[in-house]
Amino acid sequence: MTNWTQAQAPGNPPKSNAITDVACPFCGLVCDDLELARDEKGLHVTKNGCEKAVAGFERNVDGAKPQIEGRDVDLATAIQAATALIRKSSLPLYGGLGTDVNGIRSVMALADKSGGVVDHALSEGQYRNFRVLQTTGWIMTTLTETRNRADVIIVVGTDIQKLHPRFFERIVNVEASLLSETPAKRTVIFIGKGLDQSAVKGPRIGEIVTLPCDLDRVGEIVGALSAEIRGTPSSADSVAGVPAADIRALVERLKSAAYPVFVWAPPGLNFPNADLVVSAVSDLVKELNVKWRAAGLALGGNEGAISAGAVSSWQSGYPLRVSFASGKPDYDFLRYAIPRMIANGEGDLLVWLASFTPDLGPPATKIPTIVLGTPGIKLASPPAVFIPVGTPGADHGGRIIRVDNVVSLPLRDLGRSKLPKASDIFGAIELAL
Ligand code: SF4
Repeated sequence: MTNWTQAQAPGNPPKSNAITDVACPFCGLVCDDLELARDEKGLHVTKNGCEKAVAGFERNVDGAKPQIEGRDVDLATAIQAATALIRKSSLPLYGGLGTDVNGIRSVMALADKSGGVVDHALSEGQYRNFRVLQTTGWIMTTLTETRNRADVIIVVGTDIQKLHPRFFERIVNVEASLLSETPAKRTVIFIGKGLDQSAVKGPRIGEIVTLPCDLDRVGEIVGALSAEIRGTPSSADSVAGVPAADIRALVERLKSAAYPVFVWAPPGLNFPNADLVVSAVSDLVKELNVKWRAAGLALGGNEGAISAGAVSSWQSGYPLRVSFASGKPDYDFLRYAIPRMIANGEGDLLVWLASFTPDLGPPATKIPTIVLGTPGIKLASPPAVFIPVGTPGADHGGRIIRVDNVVSLPLRDLGRSKLPKASDIFGAIELAL
């Protein structure tokens, strides 16, 4: 629950040292209960953070300057140079897109005006979900529903702890729920071996079960579960190294559960045709709902990917991988994948935006590159133009959409720096074009 004072509302940096109820933009969960303190050295996460939050908020971003070909320039000169490159380009590629709702709105407007292509750096993972959603639909739930209702949580082949370090703390191991002050313990099932289970502990956790198959074979386990539920079980003694008896036992658990939730994070399903796993999980959930109840919960959505997909859908009608080259939105998730376009020599300018983490550097390319990035962003070589920009939720206010797509959260200006907003830079370029 956000609890702003006037001084802490978006756009107004807090005046006291202690800052409460901070929303964290450094992964798709957007936890909104962090506490920070600020002193002359910068921001410090004092409560409810995780290692990603500490790395994100406590980074020193002072001293970065706009550059042209590695030479420091003033901001107006850098904007002028970026504008000239975009004006000259016949097919600019707008990639990265690590930003908030306002940031992505400004990218869409500029791409529309300049006839460019729009694609997020994490689209490949997101498309493991989109392809299923677009073809067969699915039955999904939210973080809040999972937190309050799930009695069995099945983690499908992804290292949730690595991608979302507070998922188990905030969603799974919660002492009370909306429905009960003393809710029953939960069963947590891991399909796949080697997944970090270290945070699955505490009073709400009952049994922990592991079906230890190789991660690229989780789809076989999910398929075997579906076959059991349909009444057409496999006659094999084991599937992907997991005994058939364990698969049957899991099916019985699912049938007797009140609200089992299958959780996965698309970026973690990093093997060929991983969208088939998402499709198989989605089918399994639908089959369970014929007689019982179940839902899916897709995580991921780091680096503002959910906001990018949502705003692109609102504004163009399509979820990213959209080209405005013809003067109207044109959608093709294969053709307008920026990594593929760069590899095939398509596009003559890369405009890269990464305002959250320095790890989201632009890909290697021979075409000129404009980077709007958080200071310290990984760059293989100086881009044609570099403009340091602030992080929404640390250096300026903003808004971001949570991974389950049902809420957008305000991000506060914590006064970390005076770095400009990416949306202001893109707005200035769009005006000047
Ligand atoms: S889990 Fe994600 S949103 Fe929550 S504090 Fe960590 S990085 Fe921030």
